[in-house]
Amino acid sequence: SFLKEQRGGESVLDLSPRSTVGGGVEDVYGEDRASEDQLATPWTVSVASLRQYDVPLHKYMALMELEERNERLFYKLLINNVEELLPIVYTPTVGEACQKYGSIFRRPQGLYISLKEKGKILEVLRNWPERAIQVIVVTDGERILGLGDLGCQGMGIPVGKLSLYTALGGVRPSACLPITIDVGTNNEKLLNDEFYIGLKQKRATGKEYYDFLHEFMTAVKQNYGEKVLIQFEDFANHNAFELLAKYGTTHLVFNDDIQGTASVVLSGLVASLKLLGGTLGDHTFLFLGAGEAGTGIAELIALEMSKQTKVPVEETRKKIWLVDSKGLIVSSRKESLQHFKRPWAHEHEPIDNLLDAVKAIKPTALIGTSGVGKTFTKEKPLIMALSNPTSQAECTAEQAYTWTEGRAIFASGSPFDPVEFNGKCFMPGQANNAYIFPGLGFGLVISGAIRVHDDMLLAASEALAGQVTQEHYDKGMIYPPLANIRKISAHIAANVAAKAYELGLATRLPRPADLVKYAESCMFTPNYRSYR
Ligand code: NAP
Ligand code: MN
Repeated sequence: SFLKEQRGGESVLDLSPRSTVGGGVEDVYGEDRASEDQLATPWTVSVASLRQYDVPLHKYMALMELEERNERLFYKLLINNVEELLPIVYTPTVGEACQKYGSIFRRPQGLYISLKEKGKILEVLRNWPERAIQVIVVTDGERILGLGDLGCQGMGIPVGKLSLYTALGGVRPSACLPITIDVGTNNEKLLNDEFYIGLKQKRATGKEYYDFLHEFMTAVKQNYGEKVLIQFEDFANHNAFELLAKYGTTHLVFNDDIQGTASVVLSGLVASLKLLGGTLGDHTFLFLGAGEAGTGIAELIALEMSKQTKVPVEETRKKIWLVDSKGLIVSSRKESLQHFKRPWAHEHEPIDNLLDAVKAIKPTALIGTSGVGKTFTKEKPLIMALSNPTSQAECTAEQAYTWTEGRAIFASGSPFDPVEFNGKCFMPGQANNAYIFPGLGFGLVISGAIRVHDDMLLAASEALAGQVTQEHYDKGMIYPPLANIRKISAHIAANVAAKAYELGLATRLPRPADLVKYAESCMFTPNYRSYR
C-alpha cells in the first residue's frame, strides 16, 4: 500500500489512454504555468543537485535514493535528461555499481529468488507488493556486461533495464519487476567478500539449475498469466540459448543480449547503408566474439539478407564470419564447437587471431562482441565496438576516427563523447539495445502478444532505422538522438504491435487503427496528480 500511495494510487491494470495520470490532468507544478527556466521546479532542483557530484557512482547512488524516495520525480528527471542520465543508471556506471553492489547497498531493490527457496518460488513471487506485472527482467548474474560473474550483485542490471522500460518505453513502474535468481557464484572474490549479498556457494549447474529455472518459469506464468513479458538478461551463453529455445514456445520471452542487440545493430547497419551505398549483401562482416551478441546479430543480418534477396539463410550466412577466443570459426573446428557457433563454421583454413582473419576475410564491417577491451587495431569503414562497459570497448571513438582518418562510421555499446579530427566534429553512435527493448517490450504489452517472433525484431529494427533523418545522416549519425527516445519507442512499439496482429499473436482486440497514437496514449508520464 505504501507503493500505491507513492504512485498516487494509479490503477495498475489500466492500459487505456491515461485519464488519471498525465494526459488530461494538469501538472501541479504545471509546465504550462511557467517555463522551466523561469521557475525552479522539483526536477530542475534535483538535476542541479545531482550535477554537484563529480563521481558517476555517487550520481548513481543519489539517483537510486531518489527513485526510492520519489519515483515520479526520478522518472521526470530521467525522461527530461536522457542523454545525461542514461550513462549513470545504465552502462557504463551501472557496471561499476554492480561490481560494488555489496558495499554501496542501502535498501533492497527488486526480488531475489534463491536456491534456498526451491519448491516455494510461487510463494516468493506472491510476496511482491504489486500484482499486475507486465514486464519482468531476470538475470542469474553470470555474465554481467563484459564484467563476468557478479552473482547477486547483477541485480543492478534488471533494475536499470526496467527503469528504462519506464523512462524510455512508457511501461508503468508498478508493472515492472526486476528479478535476480541466486544459484551461487563462481566469482572467488565475491565468495570471500564480507559484504557479498548472495549465497556463498558455487553455482548450481545441470539438472539442479534447469529444474530451478523451470520452477521459476512455471510460477511466473501461474502467477501473472501468459501475457507477462520475461526478458532474459546477462545469462552466460551456456544457458542463454537453451533457455530461450526452451521457453520461446511456451512463454512470452526474449533474450536482450541475443535478440535486442541484434535488432539495434541491424538497424544501425541498414542506416549506414544510406551513407555507404549498396545493400547488406554487398558487405562482408567480421565479428570479434561469437557468443550471444555476436551470433545473435549475425543470425538476424543473415535473416534480413535472405528476406531481401530470397536466397536461403544457409547461403546468406556465408557472408558473415566470426572469431572467438580460439580464432576464426571454420569448418575444421565444427565438431568441437558449441551448437550456436556451428552455423558459422565456413570453409577456410584455420586462423588463430583477429588481425590475420581481417587480412584473409577483408571485411567491410568489423563488429566487436567479445567483452574484451582494446582489441581493434585495424582500420575499417564500418566499426562497431559493442562490448560494455566503456572499459571493455574494442576501441574508442577517437581511435576509430583517427586511425581511419575520419573515414569510419563508428558506433559503440557504451557512449563516447564527440571527437574532433582535422577540424571536423564526429558524432559516435551508441549501438545499444536500450534503443530497442523498451519499445519492443511496450509493443508486446500494448498488443497483448503471447509470443515473440523474429519478424518482430526485424520490425523493431526497421522502425528504429526509420527514425534517422537526413539531418542525422548529414552529421554521419546512424542512430537518432536518444533525446527523442520516447517518440522512437512509440514507433518501435507500433511496428512491433502491428507485426503481432499480422502474425495472429496479439490478443488485445480489436486492433487500434493508429498504433503510433495508441502507443503514445498508453505511455506512463510521471506527472504529479492534482489534488485540487
Ligand atoms: P558471450 O556470450 O560470453 O560471448 C563472448 C564471445 O567473445 C565468446 O565467443 C568468446 O569466445 C569471445 N572472446 C572472449 N575473449 C576473446 C578474445 N580475447 N578474443 C576473441 N574472442 C574472445 O558474451 P555476449 O553476451 O556476446 O557479450 C559480449 C559483450 O557484448 C559484452 O561486453 C556485453 O556487454 C556486450 N553487449 C553489448 C550489447 C549492446 O547493446 N551494445 C548487448 C549485449 C552485449 P569463446 O566462445 O571462445 O569463449
Ligand atoms: Mn545485457
